[in-house]
Amino acid sequence: MAPPKERHRMKTLAVHAGEDPDPVTGAAVPNLVMSTSFVVDEPVAFSALDMGEDPPFFYTRWDNPTLRQLATKLAALEGAEAAEVYASGMAATSAILFGVLGAGDHVVMSDTMYAGTAELGRHTLSRFDIESSFVDTSNLDQLADATRSQTRLVWIETPANPILRLTDIAGAAEIAHQAGAELVVDSTFATPVATRPLELGADYVLHSLTKYIGGHGDALGGAVLGSKEALSHLNVEATIHFGGSLSPFNAWLIMRGMATLPLRMEAHQSNALEVARYLETSPSVKAVTYPGLESHPQHDLAHRQMENFGGMLTFQVPDGESMAERMRKELEVFHFAVSLGHHRSLIYWMSTSAMMATSFKLTGEQLASYRALAGDGVFRTSVGLEDPADLIEDLERVL
Ligand SMILES: *Cc1c(COP(=O)(O)O)cnc(C)c1O
Repeated sequence: MAPPKERHRMKTLAVHAGEDPDPVTGAAVPNLVMSTSFVVDEPVAFSALDMGEDPPFFYTRWDNPTLRQLATKLAALEGAEAAEVYASGMAATSAILFGVLGAGDHVVMSDTMYAGTAELGRHTLSRFDIESSFVDTSNLDQLADATRSQTRLVWIETPANPILRLTDIAGAAEIAHQAGAELVVDSTFATPVATRPLELGADYVLHSLTKYIGGHGDALGGAVLGSKEALSHLNVEATIHFGGSLSPFNAWLIMRGMATLPLRMEAHQSNALEVARYLETSPSVKAVTYPGLESHPQHDLAHRQMENFGGMLTFQVPDGESMAERMRKELEVFHFAVSLGHHRSLIYWMSTSAMMATSFKLTGEQLASYRALAGDGVFRTSVGLEDPADLIEDLERVL
């Protein structure tokens, strides 16, 4: 049977890419290959440094049929030449940071992003003599000013966790390349259904597969996508030597989840828009941030850069602490829990300490202005696939 063609559309690729029938058994659904090692016809070298072009399966930390199927599906959806999968989004993040950067290099990162990435940038990189600058990457002038001759990577997250701030990917790519650096886009919130950063000039795309791509809250995973050449460096060092290998079982679950990604994203978007419009009318809500609302300060960019506005929104109430308490006790449909992108709706209070973890160390005046931007009493909401009327009733009861 012929594999799916590049010209096939997103929904077709999501179902078929990477999933050829098993050549031995004819199984139509991918077999789960849990084996850690593979019987080889001839001795294969142990060094990751002298692997041939297309080596046979040998040891699962190198490669595995189930992991390769997932990587093929991801690459098809993202329009990428190559993909590498990892044990988590953070393993994928470390793969890029430590696979690309070395002592004396400089990285420009967004001043607001996923807490794990922010903390890695803030605390860990300096131990390896890698310098980092943190800027509001939605402001391209600030981004350009922060680059220097030692800059090797520019790291953006769009939409950014948790404040849903957007960065112009094409603009950021131009700035990075002018500085002789490469652009990394953490596209976890967007998914390839909304945005394909490689088409806009990015060099690496990163996903936490734990979120929308897996979509069911039952498997951690991460991925990096880009050109064959860029990923061949990561493959040897990050995949084989750092060892953050994805379990084939998780890969199998994530692949099953991906088949419905385009459909789920449509449902997430339409539910989130209904919930956001309800929240805008609620007298207890001070502000709602959702890229699909006309009131989002970057709604124009959202229209240009996103084909789907996703299921993530935030809203702000006057007293976060007591609202969080009430939600924990009274919500029936939403789970009061972290993470996002699952079929189930999740809501979480971004307390000041949670907000601080997502951003560069701020003090005094900066902290005050950051709070003014992000706000106190902010709830990050991952709108799931339930009936939106039930979600709205659930929120109405506590607000
Ligand atoms: C969750 C998340 C990560 C980290 O992914 P894990 O799979 O939890 O390691 C990275 N970036 C963003 C934007 C995320 O939401």
